[in-house]
Amino acid sequence: MPLMTGEQYIESIRKLNMQVYMFGKKIDNPVDDPILRPALNSVRMTYDLAQKPEYQDLMTAVSPLTGKRVNRFTHIHQSTEDLVKKVKMQRLLGQKTAACFQRCVGMDAFNAVFSTTYEVDQKYGTGYHENFRKFAAYVQENDLTVDGAMTDPKGDRSKAPHAQDDPDLFLRVVERRPDGVVVCGAKAHQTGIINSHEVIVMPTQSMGPDDRDYAVSFAVPADTPGIYMIVGRQSCDTRKLEGSELDVGNSEFGGVEALTVFDHVFVPNERIFLNGEAEFAGMLVERFAGYHRQSYGGCKVGVGDVLIGAAALAADYNGAAKASHIKDKLIEMTHLNETLYCCGIACSAEGHPTESGNYIIDLLLANVCKQNVTRFPYEIVRLAEDIAGGLVVTAPSEADFRDPKLGPVIDKYLRGVASVSTENRLRVLRLIENLALGTAAVGYRTESMHGAGSPQAQRIMIARQGNLEHKKELAKAIAHIKE
Ligand code: SF4
Ligand code: FE
Repeated sequence: MPLMTGEQYIESIRKLNMQVYMFGKKIDNPVDDPILRPALNSVRMTYDLAQKPEYQDLMTAVSPLTGKRVNRFTHIHQSTEDLVKKVKMQRLLGQKTAACFQRCVGMDAFNAVFSTTYEVDQKYGTGYHENFRKFAAYVQENDLTVDGAMTDPKGDRSKAPHAQDDPDLFLRVVERRPDGVVVCGAKAHQTGIINSHEVIVMPTQSMGPDDRDYAVSFAVPADTPGIYMIVGRQSCDTRKLEGSELDVGNSEFGGVEALTVFDHVFVPNERIFLNGEAEFAGMLVERFAGYHRQSYGGCKVGVGDVLIGAAALAADYNGAAKASHIKDKLIEMTHLNETLYCCGIACSAEGHPTESGNYIIDLLLANVCKQNVTRFPYEIVRLAEDIAGGLVVTAPSEADFRDPKLGPVIDKYLRGVASVSTENRLRVLRLIENLALGTAAVGYRTESMHGAGSPQAQRIMIARQGNLEHKKELAKAIAHIKE
């Protein structure tokens, strides 16, 4: 069964026995929970689109591991063309969900772990790459969704993992057994973990020899005993409990993050991909972050497309579409959004093979991509709010709009152009609110800042990859400087 339908995916998640907590309660049925379901629907879209012939080329690929057609979210990139298609697929999914569809972290972890394990084995004669290949083939055969877990809570940022007052602030091995290891710790803001079958854990930063126990990577099922998840609140999340589709803005799709705790979780030997080879932690982090920074040149652009469309609709409904400053703002939004896409495509087209044979993006360009993502969506949101007008945050509720006495009053006074219903005007404003300030702001605006690493993390990589010495040589040659 290399490709699941969306419905089969939902039912497969229902069968898992995940420990999910929210609002102080254990959620026995996350699949049907009204706050959580929209996030599951977003992941479902990665399965539904893969079933459609018109998207087969983007959504699927033939796996070199199994020889079968698999979902691209489980694929090991074989070419720069694969890298480009990945970005295009993410833009498509952003357009279809206007939310974070969560499955990319697993894809990015897949490709980072694939190449890093190969190089660890070359140096140490370990068997991590073979472990990973078997795991990857299992995921592909069963079309699973995998969470990629990197971010540790990190405690006091001035201290190394082993020097923290509380040793659990970075996930670590607490026991080594003949058949595997036992780990303790947590991973913060885990995108899509509650909608994932498996989780790949990776270290969060470069590590030295004293941090050996923290240099660990592995995969386990998301419902392994000892793992539990505390769902993060999103702005306006409880609106989903009110029964108003209109007030939610995007009622069908969403994203989800959770603080995920590993309380003495056993990992069998065959699922271990790194175990104490501390100098490879940095390579794994750099590669995963690079792939995920490329990802943002796709997903955020797709969501940006929806936001630009919503702003243009709001202008139409206000009767302002012909004003030259409105046209110019829409051009600026498009320019910014497409610049991000350029970065996503460029770092893919400039990719190259790793020693293991899979393809990696150009790391400098991927970091430039993400650095731009920490800025441009904010400006796109600012312009969308500018075009939409203050009603984005002052419109009455749907309950008032449906009220026999208040409804006609709202209908009369909040109408824009006569040919468009007040309801449609409110719908598009609520969508803008959702993307700018509501539940989707997690996945669009603030995630643009911190997802795949905060801005400073990219600046460190840009400094490292920018090759200033080479640029100095260029300047010396032109200026005929001989030292
Ligand atoms: Fe995918 Fe974007 Fe969500 Fe990351 S933020 S998981 S790249 S949709
Ligand atoms: Fe993300």
